Amino acid sequence: MDFKDLLLMDPLQLIQYLMRIGLLLPNRTCPKCNREMVLKKRAKYVDGASWRCSSCRSFNTIRTGSFFEKLRLLIMLLLEIVEFWAKERKQIDIEESLHVSRPT
Ligand SMILES: [Zn+2]
Repeated sequence: MDFKDLLLMDPLQLIQYLMRIGLLLPNRTCPKCNREMVLKKRAKYVDGASWRCSSCRSFNTIRTGSFFEKLRLLIMLLLEIVEFWAKERKQIDIEESLHVSRPT
């Protein structure tokens, strides 16, 4: 499997592939009625599909509890670290410039 092949895939095909390799959960039970949900194609969703409960008709994202959720958390953490680092860096720059401009 090539990365390029993944991009050319139909969203639903891609989802099924991600499920096969374990990056997405292959099944999901409805949090409301505890029934097995079905994977439905949804053009409106960024993911291209979502879980649908045939009983209460509620939808659920395919990302919940998946690799993507963990990835999102990781990205958020990284952004916080970068922001923190940038602030620290600014502080050092100010201190350094003050030191340089000080008459010797
Ligand atoms: Zn339900």
